[in-house]
Amino acid sequence: MTLLSRRQALKSTGLLSAGFFLSTSVTRALAQAAAATGPHKLEPLPYAANALEPHFDARTMEIHHDKHHAAYVTNLNKALADYPDLQKLSVEELLKDLNKVPEKIRTAVRNHGGGHYNHTLFWQTLRPEGGSGPEGPLAEALGSLFGDKEEGQKLFLEKCLTLFGSGWVWLSIDSSKKLVLESLPNQDSPLSKGSTPLVGLDLWEHAYYLKFQNRRADYVKAFFPLINWEFIQQRFEKIAG
Ligand code: MN
Repeated sequence: MTLLSRRQALKSTGLLSAGFFLSTSVTRALAQAAAATGPHKLEPLPYAANALEPHFDARTMEIHHDKHHAAYVTNLNKALADYPDLQKLSVEELLKDLNKVPEKIRTAVRNHGGGHYNHTLFWQTLRPEGGSGPEGPLAEALGSLFGDKEEGQKLFLEKCLTLFGSGWVWLSIDSSKKLVLESLPNQDSPLSKGSTPLVGLDLWEHAYYLKFQNRRADYVKAFFPLINWEFIQQRFEKIAG
């Protein structure tokens, strides 16, 4: 949000004249309001920001969702501002066929559309610790890809540690409906290369630096107990089934 639009947003809600102190919830409401100018919206986190403690800390979750994710939504809407036909498409439709996006805004849609889609999925694939899974056909598919759970986590961690720079590691279903582990740079979405992501881990430093600093491995290990296997299982059965 620019300083001007922030002032305008404050003014319009009467907060500026009231000298209102910017609490977290007000900041969040402003971020959502700013992102709302356009077809794409920032949905609230599906749980409280502190729900994933002690693995993922509340402050990182707040900044990650309210600032970083919000900015992807705002910038996607901005990129589409002059393209009413493209505004009718879902973010999935845009990312699945970036060639139908004019060259002038293709990189912006790839980066910010990818950022919006990837983060929306990311929040949904996390949950406070305690659930079970995976089970059924997903457990079988994971077994044939990785062997056992320990080996799966080891391979996932290795993939995360060898990704250079910013990007994500994904567990996806490829075009032949096979489970694959893949790493992609920046906010590139598996959708743009013909696969469908089941779950991914954000390896941008903004996702972990506040709590873990340079200890990327500790961040990856903190992610494992948070994986929402019920959600991923439903997704797997819908896509592969
Ligand atoms: Mn992120």
